[in-house]
Amino acid sequence: MSLKFDELKKIYGDNIYKNEILSKYSWFNLGGPSEIFFRPNSVAQLSSFLQEIKKTKNKTTIIGAGSNTLIRDSGVKGVTIKLGSKFSFLNLINNDTIHAGAATLDKKISNFAKDNSLSNFEFLSCIPGSLGGGIVMNSGCYENEISKILVSVEVIDENGKIFEIEKDKINFFYRGCDLPDNFIILSAKLKGLKLDKSKIEKKQSEFIKKKEQSQPSQIKTCGSTFKNTKNYKAWELIKKSNCEKMFVGKAKISQKHCNFFVNEGNAKATEIEQLIHKTKEQVFKKTGIKLELEIKIIGER
Ligand SMILES: Cc1cc2nc3c(=O)[nH]c(=O)nc-3n(C[C@H](O)[C@H](O)[C@H](O)COP(=O)(O)OP(=O)(O)OC[C@H]3O[C@@H](n4cnc5c(N)ncnc54)[C@H](O)[C@@H]3O)c2cc1C
Repeated sequence: MSLKFDELKKIYGDNIYKNEILSKYSWFNLGGPSEIFFRPNSVAQLSSFLQEIKKTKNKTTIIGAGSNTLIRDSGVKGVTIKLGSKFSFLNLINNDTIHAGAATLDKKISNFAKDNSLSNFEFLSCIPGSLGGGIVMNSGCYENEISKILVSVEVIDENGKIFEIEKDKINFFYRGCDLPDNFIILSAKLKGLKLDKSKIEKKQSEFIKKKEQSQPSQIKTCGSTFKNTKNYKAWELIKKSNCEKMFVGKAKISQKHCNFFVNEGNAKATEIEQLIHKTKEQVFKKTGIKLELEIKIIGER
């Protein structure tokens, strides 16, 4: 069944748009239009929408802060969902646990934890994503990752049904987890350790400084393009294979961190994708190692 935009518009009003250009929702600043773009502002609205969409059998794509997602130039077919501002919230429960909405930025969670003298959230100040994206990616740095502080996640499925999943029921691994693709994370509980606020502040500033020194900032990138392998960092393999100076049009490799690919202004998503393939091929030719993507690529070819 086709998507009847006018009917959906009658129900969801200003929360739904047609042909919304997605480039502004990705850190690469790239991407074509989404056939239908939905920004729910309540769980009830999202639940009702998912039930409507299920009848049409259209594909649903969820995006968070877009800091790990390359969106193709031809855009995204079906429905793209980005949680609205009501999904960005922070509450302290039981003194050592934070209940946060999935759209909450990691940096905000880190600062909230600091303000409440809760440690182990410092690393989140270095990750520019949202909590939902962080859980799906099991994001982390400096010997920590989301799964280590996670207690449980609240999700909604394609039928609009909501349930809570304990951390132990989810298999987390390096930059990923086995949560089904059709689950949208609504919120999560994260547990920290009580610590003196000044110590947390110090750790947080050290991490931020370390990041600034090792990685480029103020550029259009989605962070690490490839995952590290068992024995090598992806950047080491890229460097060893002499890929650092490679480019396709305005898609370049950062000179500060060669696993960061950059839109140097007016690149096309296709150019970033071509650069990814070119690099992967060269690394394989030189080292025999097949690099695996860390960033997600969505949209029509
Ligand atoms: C400058 C820079 C530095 C970075 N440094 C790090 C780092 O140190 N460590 C690290 O791990 N990553 C890093 N990243 C990558 C990125 O920030 C993380 O992967 C981040 O957690 C992605 O979150 P997001 O909300 O932007 O996800 P998106 O890119 O929007 O989405 C990523 C994935 O999560 C899914 N998703 C998003 N929200 C939800 C939801 N609510 N429910 C279900 N699925 C959802 C999407 O469908 C997609 O599959 C960096 C990126 C940049 C640009």
